[in-house]
Amino acid sequence: MKKPYLETQPDENGYFGKFGGAFLPPMLEEPFAQIQKEYEKIKTDPEFIEELKYVRKHYQGRPTPISFAKNLTEHCGGAKIYLKREDLNHTGAHKLNHCMAEVILAKHLGKKKVIAETGAGQHGVALATAAAYFGLECEIHMGEVDIVKEHPNVVRMKILGAKVVPATHGLKTLKEAVDSAFGVYMETYEESLFCIGSVVGPHPFPVMVRDFQSVVGFESKEQFLEHEDKLPDHVIACVGGGSNAMGIFAGFIDDDVELIGVEPMGKGEKLGEHAASLTYGEEGVMHGFNSIMLKDAEGEPAPVYSIGSGIDYPSVGPEHAYLSSIGRTKVALCNDEEAVDAFYKLSQLEGIIPALETAHAIAYAMKLAKILPSDKTILVNLSGRGDKDIDFVVDNHEIPNAKF
Ligand SMILES: *Cc1c(COP(=O)(O)O)cnc(C)c1O
Repeated sequence: MKKPYLETQPDENGYFGKFGGAFLPPMLEEPFAQIQKEYEKIKTDPEFIEELKYVRKHYQGRPTPISFAKNLTEHCGGAKIYLKREDLNHTGAHKLNHCMAEVILAKHLGKKKVIAETGAGQHGVALATAAAYFGLECEIHMGEVDIVKEHPNVVRMKILGAKVVPATHGLKTLKEAVDSAFGVYMETYEESLFCIGSVVGPHPFPVMVRDFQSVVGFESKEQFLEHEDKLPDHVIACVGGGSNAMGIFAGFIDDDVELIGVEPMGKGEKLGEHAASLTYGEEGVMHGFNSIMLKDAEGEPAPVYSIGSGIDYPSVGPEHAYLSSIGRTKVALCNDEEAVDAFYKLSQLEGIIPALETAHAIAYAMKLAKILPSDKTILVNLSGRGDKDIDFVVDNHEIPNAKF
């Protein structure tokens, strides 16, 4: 019998095909080797598995349901659209799936503090939550631009007891937040763990975060069978670093199911106007791993933009680069305008306000549903709720059909 895909990738050095690896300053090689060793140890440790199961069920609110989007389906007039409700996780997004596990890992490593970057603030809030729950200190780095845009999440992090450090260089968004967090981690690695917020970074983070998120895919498979008695034809997720996408893909990767990652086209095709790394990028090393990235004329990470602060990253998880290079996954695009339209459509037709990041996946699902027959099914990972985005959206895009 063929080995399950998840057991075959990555190799022992953290490579998915030619993508991945760990490109580290010499001083961090030992700390990362320790993280990997500890992860290898705990991932099969019944005590760790039980602890994670316990917090997921009794604290996070898992399993999250799959909802049939009846009105949205009728509106599109084609394939049936289903939603995996990661917005119903405690803190409102899929991020807590890996944060709870990363903080347990930090405890096993004897660290007293966790450090991370955040884009929209969702990873920061989730990590601050996990740190509060497990009694660790928490420091979150965030671009100054995002601090303004995602103000409610900044307040949430502070209320949860985290220290929020602004990244003030460059474009002052997600990439700069990673630079800033990495800088502090280099000076404090003995007492802290850098809890990366997606399937990116040096090995073992891409595989670790994928494994922690795979609960989304495994639950989905079982729940979808309950709804339809067959697997979905298409599974769709938005891709920033790619953790929510890898999480749901993990449940279907050995099956005859089309897996589609949706990248942000922002305002246009020019470099700097979007963050569609897989679509327009080339091979390169950034933030400690080899993947597909958007480069400027000097070969440095290019400036990127998307209305979704959690997906404006100039690279992508190495496993996505690999899976797309072998044709197992497909990449689709969605621009700002389509995302805002989907944000309002899902809100008004289904009573669910999605995160702007998630709205990219919804927008593409609507497009696809319209051209498919009604016996086809689409499962979308509804990665997070949009409460954090409401002020920004209504200030910039008029509410359609507003009654007052
Ligand atoms: C952070 C975030 C994303 C993007 O991150 P991935 O690692 O690509 O999943 C998508 N949706 C929501 C709601 C987020 O908070």
